[in-house]
Amino acid sequence: MSPSHGRSYLAIPGPSVIPEAVLQAMHRPSPNIYEGELVDLTDSLIPDLRTVAQTKGHVAMYMGNGHAAWEASLANVCSRGDRVLVLATGRFGHGWAEMAEGLALDVQILEFGLERAVDPAQVEEVLRADTTHSIKAVLAVHVDTSTSILSDVPAIRAAIDAAGHPALLMADCVASLGCDRFEMDAWGVDVMISASQKGLMTPAGLAFVFFNDRAKARRGDLATRYWDWSLRAEPDAFYQYWCGTAATHHIYGLRTALDMMMDEGMPAIWARHERLAQAVWSACEAWGATGPLKLNVADRALRSRAVTAIGIGPGQGDALRHWCEHEAGLTLGIGLGRTPPDAFFRIGHMGYVNAQMILGCLATIQAGLVALDIPHGQGAIDAAARAVTGGSVAAQAADADIQRRCG
Ligand SMILES: *Cc1c(COP(=O)(O)O)cnc(C)c1O
Repeated sequence: MSPSHGRSYLAIPGPSVIPEAVLQAMHRPSPNIYEGELVDLTDSLIPDLRTVAQTKGHVAMYMGNGHAAWEASLANVCSRGDRVLVLATGRFGHGWAEMAEGLALDVQILEFGLERAVDPAQVEEVLRADTTHSIKAVLAVHVDTSTSILSDVPAIRAAIDAAGHPALLMADCVASLGCDRFEMDAWGVDVMISASQKGLMTPAGLAFVFFNDRAKARRGDLATRYWDWSLRAEPDAFYQYWCGTAATHHIYGLRTALDMMMDEGMPAIWARHERLAQAVWSACEAWGATGPLKLNVADRALRSRAVTAIGIGPGQGDALRHWCEHEAGLTLGIGLGRTPPDAFFRIGHMGYVNAQMILGCLATIQAGLVALDIPHGQGAIDAAARAVTGGSVAAQAADADIQRRCG
């Protein structure tokens, strides 16, 4: 007997849970790719993608994953040998750097380790020292999914401006888009990349590169025909959106996911992720009061609302993951990019997630800690319950009263 039979929850930080409505929208024969519904549907994605990214800028879509978006973004603004500055807060910053090296770019890495966010003062210092303006772009990962560190993108923009440096600001929002608040235009981001399988709740397979006019004006010599964003973002004919056959079924899926997101609204989506993340953090803090469990990021302001990385001691991360998967139907994320990897695990709480899923996930982890005799503090589920409700009805009334009186 195993109590794991029933609906499972893939709580890894991407691919995320796909809504039934998205899957159903994709369950159809291939459409005509030359005219009709698919053309209109594709056109309709653009304004909604802009809303999700909070930009009036351009968006190029590719059939690819986050790695494709990494390469596409660099290829369109850089020339062979250009220098780029990568701000690394985990595995994904280094991943983007490796893609840049593969394009024969001159990569300079500013390392912030695995527990700290980007320090804007250090970014400013490096850019001030670059008096010849050899750095063409600053590459920042908004949320590094391996460490769950959230970096302050507006502060990075301010550092670039304070240094009077013309480098483009490029942001990786594969994990954060549609989860953590992000405002491309207001935050002064020139290029932003994302992919379909995390906050956008659609199967892996679509990559997005958003860019403004400033980035558009920087033509590099690396963009070969397939990666060139110009026709994809401003197609004269439908096939140019995709440089060939359209991503037929993904278009239907993404259309449905975006409908759901537009119905909920971006502020409500961010607030839901905030509330659920606080439940996760509250439980982890309670568990960590005694025993080995420790949130990777100490400061709440520097934690992502999409993913949480947790240290638990050598071997215990893998043991807990295996228990949760095989005994309870809950799949947790691996300790990606950590040493030893089995001393960490991650919870993905991105996209199509609600309170009952997160509370079920946390209670399951608690059961795993009990089953495996891993020491932990008490009261985690109570703490999560308080966080997920935003406090008791009485506390909410008191908050509302303060809001009313203090505007
Ligand atoms: C998932 C992820 C990627 C890589 O995406 P793939 O689709 O696996 O290529 C890049 N950056 C971040 C921040 C991610 O979370």
